[in-house]
Amino acid sequence: MKLERQFLLLVTGVFLFASLMVWLGFRSMTSEINREWSGQIIERQVLFDKYRTFSPLIREIAQARKMAEDPALLRMAENEDNPAARREGLAALERYRIRFADHSVFAAFSRTSHYYFNDAAAEYQGQEMRYVLSRDNPADRWFYATLAGGKPYQINISQDNHLKVTKVWINVLLRSGGQVLGVVGTGMNLSEFLSQTVNITQAGIHNFFVDENLAIQLSGDPQLIDYASIAKRQDQRLTISSLFSPLDVARLQESLRELRSGSTPVTSLWVEFHGRRYLLGVAWLPELGWYDLTLVDQKNLMLFKKLSFLPYAMGALFLMALVILGFALHQWVLMPLLALKRASDALQRGDFDVMPPLVGSGEVRDLSLSFRHMVNYVRNSHRELEARVKERTEALHRLTEIDGLTGLLNRRGLMERFDNELARLERTGGTLGLLLLDLDHFKDINDSYGHAAGDMALMRAAEVLRGLSRPYDYAGRFGGEEFLVILPECSRDDLQRIGERIRAAVEALSLEHEGQHFAFTTSVGMYHVTAPERRDQMLSKADKALYAAKVAGRNRVRMYGENDE
Ligand code: GH3
Ligand code: MG
Ligand code: MG
Repeated sequence: MKLERQFLLLVTGVFLFASLMVWLGFRSMTSEINREWSGQIIERQVLFDKYRTFSPLIREIAQARKMAEDPALLRMAENEDNPAARREGLAALERYRIRFADHSVFAAFSRTSHYYFNDAAAEYQGQEMRYVLSRDNPADRWFYATLAGGKPYQINISQDNHLKVTKVWINVLLRSGGQVLGVVGTGMNLSEFLSQTVNITQAGIHNFFVDENLAIQLSGDPQLIDYASIAKRQDQRLTISSLFSPLDVARLQESLRELRSGSTPVTSLWVEFHGRRYLLGVAWLPELGWYDLTLVDQKNLMLFKKLSFLPYAMGALFLMALVILGFALHQWVLMPLLALKRASDALQRGDFDVMPPLVGSGEVRDLSLSFRHMVNYVRNSHRELEARVKERTEALHRLTEIDGLTGLLNRRGLMERFDNELARLERTGGTLGLLLLDLDHFKDINDSYGHAAGDMALMRAAEVLRGLSRPYDYAGRFGGEEFLVILPECSRDDLQRIGERIRAAVEALSLEHEGQHFAFTTSVGMYHVTAPERRDQMLSKADKALYAAKVAGRNRVRMYGENDE
């Protein structure tokens, strides 16, 4: 795999791992913060909702309870037919009517089932007795249920069929000496009440008040209110359970138990509402026997939302870092390395003239400098080695052409020169002289003085040939005690003269071996070449002349083509 890809893969791996770790840490941290934050928000919100709704009610309840203890009213309840008691009772009702927030008041008496009422406009002044309640009338069931319920006070949201208004009724039992005389109280206009309490709009927040049976008493959406709840059977009631899944309802019930035990003022749980996740905060209102339920949309728990861009920002940062790293790697490392590799490849192909470039910076530059030194060293070594090999090869070649004993050319060397001269002769014409020598009675020297003496004689004869041949002649040992001298560009006379001079010089040699003095002679056959011939032909002619010299008595020179042959 290429370094760049490997590096980028590694960086990606490290980055993804680090990002995952950071993200997981971030998530656990934010969810922890969010839990804390949501808990606080929901607690504030629930308490806010609770007191916002509860405060106006509690004042009215206190007022109504005070009214229920008014002696004039009690007297009227016990003795409605008595005009004085009735007058004073109605006056008391009127006093309280003014004090109630809604400026309306009602009183219903058990003994007569008479229902008294007056509203803010005092519309029924003088006709406060509105109608007679009946057990058979469903609209009047609230009265009998309240009497039967026995609670000191109760809130009932219902439509008054006779008066055609929907009200939040505060019903307080009228009691005297253990005897229930009726129900008194006030009713607040529901829509006004809602608009001041549960209906105060906060986006993403829903507020409900439910009774112990989970029947919805107050809701921003009037359609969800379980009107006249107290007069209904449980299966007829509109409860909060219809808004949540059975699982969420079960968890809610658990929360409600916890609340009633008094261990905490507010509990919260996550629920699904209208297909979204909501945090549901619940508080208990013991004064009413109600629960305040506040739903806050998860989106409103803003903290997480505000930080949710972080993973994207990290992703973008990562990509940016990857691009920058990749570019830097390419510029600082890969490009210089590629340049060095190109130089190295050229070197491998045998191009020793390559000059590696100085690339990169820092360590990479140091590397390219070292590489350049190395290439220089390799180049010099290579050249030196090549020169030495050439030299050795030439020496070896020469050795194969030199006779070991005399240092003259051997037969092979002679033949190579001979061929060259013949080629030259063919190209440019000219002449060539051949001298073929054979030492006379050489066997006798070996026999008489020993083989070493024979060798010495051969060496001395070679010295003579070296000394008397011209610088551009080739003298060599042709074999045994035979010698050949090739004389390029040589006239017949010169050939004759040189041959004779050599013969005489050999004859003049005086040798001493182990105290014994001896001498020897040589016969010389010559051939003067004036036109190219085959090599063996020419040699054979020189040999014939040599043979003639031998036959003629040895120690003499003979030219082919003259006299005897
Ligand atoms: P001629 O040529 O005059 O007819 O007589 P010759 O004695 O020279 O006869 P021949 O050519 O037959 O003998 C050559 C002798 O030279 C035989 C051989 O032992 C001797 N010889 C050849 N090479 C060497 C050498 O390298 N060293 C010595 N010491 N003797 C050699
Ligand atoms: Mg011989
Ligand atoms: Mg001989």
